[in-house]
Amino acid sequence: MAHQLPPLPYGYDALEPHIDARTLEIHHDKHHATYLANLNKALEAAPDLQDKPVEDLLKNLDAVPEGVRKAVRNQGGGFANHTFYWESMGPKSSGAPAAASALAASINKAFVSFATFKEKFTAATVGHFGSGWGWLSLDKGGQLIVHSTAKQDSPLSEGFTPLLVCDVWEHAYYLKYQNRRADYVAAWWNVVNWDKVIERYLAATKRG
Ligand code: MN
Repeated sequence: MAHQLPPLPYGYDALEPHIDARTLEIHHDKHHATYLANLNKALEAAPDLQDKPVEDLLKNLDAVPEGVRKAVRNQGGGFANHTFYWESMGPKSSGAPAAASALAASINKAFVSFATFKEKFTAATVGHFGSGWGWLSLDKGGQLIVHSTAKQDSPLSEGFTPLLVCDVWEHAYYLKYQNRRADYVAAWWNVVNWDKVIERYLAATKRG
């Protein structure tokens, strides 16, 4: 069965004024939908892959037949990354992970403080050259890391477990912020869904 476009987990205007409704509508209904359509079209040539979660394909691109590997990486990556991005945000951000959470303790351990983590994430994300994504992930050894990926590449393909993402393709912010990527990322911190990030962290560390 073909992959389906997950609905936005909130309304188009739910992240105003930080992310405007028009941007969110086009980003989800057009950009995300196009990655999905292109992925489904590519998988017509590999029907045995259609029922597998796209995340599983991204985790082991070498196992994907060469004829569709590039499409899975680019279109499948775009499909999965955007779903992950919507869920990384929400209208009622707590601003930081709950102080008593294991994630907060791990962030303090890895980055000295939440403020230092924010600085590092912001620097990696704003400073990423060209289109891409800024991430907080667990590396193969289970350590928290801040990094960026180009185009639609997924941390899953590097053996990492993503926890939080910020989209820095221009289509994510150009209507409201034009060339001011730093202003967009500064505003984006106000809509991070920390409960979701904590949930992902717990799931990843329990599994490990
Ligand atoms: Mn995007």
